[in-house]
Amino acid sequence: MSTSLLRLVWIYPDLLSTYGDRGNLLILAHRAEARGILAEQILVRSDQAIPHEADVYLIGGGEDGPQALAAEKLIADRALADTHEKGKTVFAVCAGYQLLGESFIASGERCRGLGLLDMASDRGESRAVGELSGPVAPALNLPVLTGFENHGGRTHLGPGVTPLAQVEHGIGNNGSHEGAWQDKIIGTYLHGPALARNPELADQLLAWAIGVDRASLPPLDDQWAESLRRERFNALASR
Ligand code: GLN
Repeated sequence: MSTSLLRLVWIYPDLLSTYGDRGNLLILAHRAEARGILAEQILVRSDQAIPHEADVYLIGGGEDGPQALAAEKLIADRALADTHEKGKTVFAVCAGYQLLGESFIASGERCRGLGLLDMASDRGESRAVGELSGPVAPALNLPVLTGFENHGGRTHLGPGVTPLAQVEHGIGNNGSHEGAWQDKIIGTYLHGPALARNPELADQLLAWAIGVDRASLPPLDDQWAESLRRERFNALASR
């Protein structure tokens, strides 16, 4: 395994970090270092420029005001569009996910998104709050995703993106499917430290970033995540 440095960028922790989103950064760094890959954690505040030369870009969730501001700043910054052209890995959660699309609604206004994902978001009749889980797009070959959601937005996918998962419990994009996947970009309504509960998804991002097959990454002890997954499914099944 390569020992080169993996550069992980967490975009705008001062605006988009409502649900413990730092956990995704920590999990990626931990899982890289457990495989002998040094990871640099780069926090980029909204008054700073986003580095163009990094390996993984993380964007978290947030309330409508910070979300609209983050979208304006990201459009002006241009780095994410550039990294997309270079095929970099991006993982975006809820507000961060919505703003990667063509447009989204915040505080009653339609806001321009970055247009990196072929999708647009509007608002649902009620907030989607609670458990969110379901089987992942077969091509990604990942186990069932589990997590929680808390958002007002609903997301409509265009033909250029694949839903990340089908919804068994919860709402996700629209009550039927959840999240989006295009190239090496994954967006999800699984909130906060979703990668802690879904370590295989973390490994998929790492594998893309370092240019290997996920199956070639040495396995780690993920019993805790597996038992949490089982616990949630048992609880939901007995409702
Ligand atoms: N403000 C957005 C919504 O409610 C995103 C919320 C979030 O990131 N949890 O849909």
